[in-house]
Amino acid sequence: MSGKQDYYETLGVSRNASESEIKASYRKLAMKYHPDRNPGDKAAEEKFKEAAEAYEVLRDPQKRGIYDQYGHQGLEGSGFSGFGGFEDIFSSFGDIFEDFFGFNTGRRSRSRSQKGNDLRYDMRLSFMEAAFGKETEINVEKMEICPECNSTGCQPGTQPEICQECGGTGQISRTQGFFTVRTTCPHCRGGGQSIAHPCSNCKGAGKVRTSKRVAVKIPGGVDSGSRLRLTGEGEPGAYGGPAGDLYVFIHVERHEFFERDGTNVICQIPISFIQAALGDKIPVPTLQGEKDLEVPKGTQPGDVFRFQGEGIPSLRNGGRGDQLIQVDIKTPTNLTKKQEALLKEFSKLEEGKLGNKLKNMFKGNAARAAR
Ligand SMILES: [Zn+2]
Ligand SMILES: [Zn+2]
Repeated sequence: MSGKQDYYETLGVSRNASESEIKASYRKLAMKYHPDRNPGDKAAEEKFKEAAEAYEVLRDPQKRGIYDQYGHQGLEGSGFSGFGGFEDIFSSFGDIFEDFFGFNTGRRSRSRSQKGNDLRYDMRLSFMEAAFGKETEINVEKMEICPECNSTGCQPGTQPEICQECGGTGQISRTQGFFTVRTTCPHCRGGGQSIAHPCSNCKGAGKVRTSKRVAVKIPGGVDSGSRLRLTGEGEPGAYGGPAGDLYVFIHVERHEFFERDGTNVICQIPISFIQAALGDKIPVPTLQGEKDLEVPKGTQPGDVFRFQGEGIPSLRNGGRGDQLIQVDIKTPTNLTKKQEALLKEFSKLEEGKLGNKLKNMFKGNAARAAR
């Protein structure tokens, strides 16, 4: 590479050219001689490298100052020795190639594109809504690409300008002792652009906070802790990245009668001790209306009956769980004289069975305790 080129001549600018003129000129040359457009053309390659070297010096006020005063020798003294090859050029100017040239170097773009933020929405459902599912619409507050400026942040009809702080490179160089440290330009945050006429809709941010109605289809069988993902309904991505996702977190309210255990529904039914003793047919609420339960003779406290397939649909296979019915046997209170008399009568008849059995049990205990 020629170390003796005149950088101003190479870029075709005057010695007092502004930073933006230098950048614009470099942009034109780099477009013209870019290796992607001139495959195998050695002369173009040389021109491309020369332009990059000239730009590297002239875009940097420090280096430009040294060059203006002391020429190439001054730069060599400061440690600058041009570029080794294309890799160097792209690694220094990767951002500009992407942002201003409309084609990329194939290295930076993938790492730079960012998926948008995921969003969370908490949804309360009644017990029945969770069991049978629900189609609804929700309002989601999120950032969206500004429709006025299509994310550029510029008032329609205007263009972003090259950042004056960094000359569009997105980086600024600072000399610390013998070293030159390059940091992201704080003015443009590395984008290399500044917006002279910000879009009035988004104030130049390129995004606006909006409230969007999103249709949500809740499948039957969801439970507290279930999470639905709506792909692409999160916030927009950056630099060509995909939008984030929206996660709907489900919270199911308690039911006054039904409880839930996975896909099974559990309920308690009060029955009288008469019904328990004699058996009866009693109506029991299910998720889909009432159904008769045959309570057999001699039903005991804690006995559980089952309605097969009357539970909640399974999210996995669509099959339904069961309804489990626990009977709660109630002891009668506030008996009338007549009822009391009848129960005493009943009791006398029972004594022969239950009463003797108990007496014998206690006799046995007392005998053991006396030994
Ligand atoms: Zn806008
Ligand atoms: Zn900047």
